Amino acid sequence: MNKILGTFVSEGISIGKIQTLPEAIRVTNDLVNDREAEVRRYEEATQKAKKLTEALINKTKDDAAKEILEIHMMMFEDLDYVETIKSNIMDNGYNAQYAVKEAGNVLSQMFLNMDDEYMQARSADVIDISDTIIKVLAGQGSLDYFEPAIFVGTDIMPSQLVELDPEIILGFAFTEGAVNSHSGIVARNMSIPMVCQLHVDLRGYDGMQGIVDGKAGLLIVDPDEVTLKTYERKIQEQKEFQTMLAELKGKADETEDGRTLKINANIGKPEDLPKVLENDAAGIGLFRSEFLYLDCNDYPTEEQQFLAYKKVAEGMNGKVVVVRTLDIGADKTVPYFNLPEEHNPALGYRAIRICLDRQDLFKTQLRAILRASAYGNIAIMTPMIISLEEVLEVKRILAEVKADLDRDNIPYNRGIMLGVMIETPAAVLISDKLAEEVDFFSVGTNDLTQYTLACDRENQKLKFDKHHLAILRMLKIIVDNAHKHNTKVSICGELGADLDLTEYYLAIGLDAVSVSAPAVLKVRNKVRSLNYAEIMKKYKPL
Ligand code: PEP
Ligand code: MG
Repeated sequence: MNKILGTFVSEGISIGKIQTLPEAIRVTNDLVNDREAEVRRYEEATQKAKKLTEALINKTKDDAAKEILEIHMMMFEDLDYVETIKSNIMDNGYNAQYAVKEAGNVLSQMFLNMDDEYMQARSADVIDISDTIIKVLAGQGSLDYFEPAIFVGTDIMPSQLVELDPEIILGFAFTEGAVNSHSGIVARNMSIPMVCQLHVDLRGYDGMQGIVDGKAGLLIVDPDEVTLKTYERKIQEQKEFQTMLAELKGKADETEDGRTLKINANIGKPEDLPKVLENDAAGIGLFRSEFLYLDCNDYPTEEQQFLAYKKVAEGMNGKVVVVRTLDIGADKTVPYFNLPEEHNPALGYRAIRICLDRQDLFKTQLRAILRASAYGNIAIMTPMIISLEEVLEVKRILAEVKADLDRDNIPYNRGIMLGVMIETPAAVLISDKLAEEVDFFSVGTNDLTQYTLACDRENQKLKFDKHHLAILRMLKIIVDNAHKHNTKVSICGELGADLDLTEYYLAIGLDAVSVSAPAVLKVRNKVRSLNYAEIMKKYKPL
């Protein structure tokens, strides 16, 4: 037995087989000298990719999946595809990985532009086979996992995480990683136990039994009988606690004496909706729309986005759904954005800055959100705001998009609410001015803490003091400024689910929190155990 202690990321316990995740592949556009040798490398990789696909066909029990894989087998040999790759290598000198990636992107776009639905669907397949060849070229063989496992490795990027089938992820354990990373947030949203900062080589444990204890930040490899029994008992206790929480479904988000603190949920994709409904959240306080972009190989179209937002709005059946506009950049990047390499990406070209610069992109998203607003209770929220001018520019663009829709006679909610994230110290200090312009605020405590304390949210060497007096005071300033203008305030950063602060939130008059779906009932349990009058008797401003 080997107990490896790291840091908590996402709570929960799971027991299962250990499986090593490969490192993320970086495809660069380096050129090669020996072009013919590179073509041979590509051809050999294709043969291996076909063998892997054949093995998958034999392994999978799902008929639909079998059918798609059989199409893949043919696509590997598609003349256009093969010729484009070879010409990328022979004419342009691209390395094989880059040549395959480029060809995949071009053909995928070509399929997307076709009228025939069957052909449009091939767009994803061409990307899929390209990925398989690229993985072989990178020496990673097959990345298709079928069996439930505890996945271990150095770290996982959000884009890699969304690629894995959630059904088979029992847990994650990483040598690096961080509690505030977006992968950590996704793991918490999905109730997947996750630990990081294990600082030991995790290779060589494949196939062995493991236990991840998220709360304790622990990975146990090859547990002995006693440990196994202890953890089986803990899993049973967890189930009993969940049963108790389930009884709170349908109950109000209010204290014993009737003071409300609304509890919404955060999501990244429409697939997260069942968890939100299962946990009876009051609404969706943060839909991180960038995950739609992370899940694609090219910019999602207006129609793709519209369908995603509509699905969530309809699924929530009249409850609020706050769609945050694209917050790409920093640790959330995808190759097709071609974002510049930056020394300091957290302080760089990201989020609303990209949207105001590339207004075509922003307008497509706003149009999709507005169209979906005809099907439910959608609100719009913009991230990373630092100035009043940005908000006024957002409002101007929004008005333009609304006018376009009016011209095209396309319905949308004319009274759609607009909010901003308060996640920079600048936004806190001008929150009185911002409150005059928008309907609601949502405090992004993850970034607000990072920017206020000048501590990278993913740097585990730094003390990321979530309860720093500066942050707690800021929350009060934001609420006071907002309420002077009837602007509602929620917290959608991870601090919203911090049960040590629930009393404080009630005391300062916060209106809502938005937390990972699995945390909704825990926070409700806490709120319902408190007495507002008692809290206010003790409360002294910090
Ligand atoms: C935040 O910064 O607190 C937030 C909710 O946004 P994200 O974590 O997606 O940056
Ligand atoms: Mg943020």
